[in-house]
Amino acid sequence: MSKLTNKRLKVLRQLRRTAHHYDLRRLLTIGISLAILFLVPLSGLARVDLWRGDHALLFRSVPFKHGLAGVIVGICAMYVVTFLVNVIGGRLFCGWGCPVGQISRFGEAVDTPGLNRRQRLRAALEGAAFSLLLVLSIFAWWVDLRVFWGGSSQALLIAWGALVVSVVLTYAHGRWWRWGFCMSTCPIGLYYSFVSPAKWFGVHFRNENSSCVECNACDNVCPVHLAPRDLMASSGERPGFSIADAPGRNHCLECGDCVRACEWMIAKTGGEEVPLLMSFFSGPQRLPADGPAADTSPLDPEPAKAPPAC
Ligand code: SF4
Ligand code: SF4
Repeated sequence: MSKLTNKRLKVLRQLRRTAHHYDLRRLLTIGISLAILFLVPLSGLARVDLWRGDHALLFRSVPFKHGLAGVIVGICAMYVVTFLVNVIGGRLFCGWGCPVGQISRFGEAVDTPGLNRRQRLRAALEGAAFSLLLVLSIFAWWVDLRVFWGGSSQALLIAWGALVVSVVLTYAHGRWWRWGFCMSTCPIGLYYSFVSPAKWFGVHFRNENSSCVECNACDNVCPVHLAPRDLMASSGERPGFSIADAPGRNHCLECGDCVRACEWMIAKTGGEEVPLLMSFFSGPQRLPADGPAADTSPLDPEPAKAPPAC
């Protein structure tokens, strides 16, 4: 496990000890994503059935090419909706709606330092169950799920074989590849990074009252290795599918982990103002698109305070 991953896991371990409203929100948003993934094909809004040929479009049985057209339109509709979300809030879908990102969170839960064997097993089972749900939701677009119990022996063999391989790969992704995929390989993430710059909502740093204790918890917890206090700074050379040297905010997943870490640290140190926020940009806190605002740059020298360990 890399040093950066270790640092993130250590901060996450602390954060998991306290319930946070982000937990419920993420449960809802991921739940909505999964529900849409299941409902579109199962309701017959758009579906291809490679098993029995029961293709559907707009709740009616149709020929294969019409079912396929419906599936393609469904995928394009997702891009249109997420484009609109991006204009307002950047890669919010990555941080809150993407089930693949959620798989990474399940994988991290297994590796949380300090778990006993039973807790680790439970985390692993939860990750496996989520992987199964996700794979089934994707299969539902391409095959009637009744194939898993009603197919011929050949159909059963193919369906179960494909299911087992896909679930194992999905689970393995969460355990070992995780955010590396979001950061450098996901083509959808690349698209989102391109259409993110004009966003009006996101993470910004407000430190007028020198409330930052320089603990670096926000840096350590960022899953894609950005500097949350200065997202206008270059994100540097990033591997794979990403825009090299784009401002960090293009690549920010809007996951809020840095804000949560900051809230936790400020509460722990008895501070009152949380310097890192996820909100609409307004007034002097806004980070302009053409460079960091002087009054918001975390690089402004602040009197050093003793950072608590995290
Ligand atoms: S900067 Fe904050 S919100 Fe953005 S990806 Fe990193 S941790 Fe998530
Ligand atoms: S106090 Fe908040 S903004 Fe400052 S370094 Fe710690 S987590 Fe980051």
